[in-house]
Amino acid sequence: MLDLHQKVNAPLQQIKEYLFEEKGVEVFIKREDLIHPNISGNKWRKLKYNLIEAKAKGYTTLLTFGGAYSNHIHALATAGKLLGFKMIGCIRGEEHFPLNSTLLSAQENGMQLHYLSRTEYREKFSKEVIEQLHQKFGDFYILPEGGTNELAVKGCSEIIDEINFTPDYLLSAIGTGGTLAGLITGMNHSGQIIGISSLKGGSFLNNDITQLLPKRHTNWEVLTDYHFGGYAKTTEELFSFIKKFKQQHHILLDPIYTSKMTYAFYQLLKKDTFKRGSKIVLLHTGGLQGWQGMIEQNKVSKEFIQAFFN
Ligand SMILES: *Cc1c(COP(=O)(O)O)cnc(C)c1O
Repeated sequence: MLDLHQKVNAPLQQIKEYLFEEKGVEVFIKREDLIHPNISGNKWRKLKYNLIEAKAKGYTTLLTFGGAYSNHIHALATAGKLLGFKMIGCIRGEEHFPLNSTLLSAQENGMQLHYLSRTEYREKFSKEVIEQLHQKFGDFYILPEGGTNELAVKGCSEIIDEINFTPDYLLSAIGTGGTLAGLITGMNHSGQIIGISSLKGGSFLNNDITQLLPKRHTNWEVLTDYHFGGYAKTTEELFSFIKKFKQQHHILLDPIYTSKMTYAFYQLLKKDTFKRGSKIVLLHTGGLQGWQGMIEQNKVSKEFIQAFFN
């Protein structure tokens, strides 16, 4: 059984290397990836208050949206099963067989998959689409795409409570911006929060994140130059970076979010962006199930994975 109120295991781990000494900074990784093998990192944080709310209001069914490889779908299917919810996953695009590992595991956890055309998906918050979904599935609690809403922001702000000093810089990957909004809220006007967009052309995120913040904050920024060609796009350079980081620090990054964020961190460090004497925290938001999708799409060979996963 899953206890939504239990304290999670997400230690803060210092990593060391010569470059950090040379630049006079201390670097820590907040290991949100260790929270749960299948409800990874920030997805747990984003689900927590939503699931508490859904239970409190007596909902028995959860409905959500996501792409075919969505970490959110994966996490929700696991959490929803453990808490005894019925679940409906509205998946963008057409049904493909065999199901990929993300969708297969969601289905095995009891999530009913429902496919929306790309047009319907774009209009998913319109009255018409929601009405159709209610006609088909009855009453349900809606979790938006990526799980991002006000309650998700609240959950993510709790990450900061678990860091026992005030970071001078806090770096996190961005998809929808819910996590970053939570971090900004939790930091409460101290330090500098830097979000690395995993999407190409992510400057709209500035606006989305501002909308998610209950109050005005100025100590944050979004960097949009580290997407490696776009969302879920990868390059050989990114893979060798992941491999090198794993060999050096024994921490596996995911191919879609945390690797791009950590890569950006090194670039910023080399450019002397961080003041000497700073304490820097990198948020490992999890997402390791994303590797399975990379393997299935032949973006990376099994041999490559085996060579550095263990
Ligand atoms: C979903 C996800 C993100 C993006 O979080 P947002 O709150 O949507 O910005 C970052 N990292 C990982 C590993 C994720 O799965």
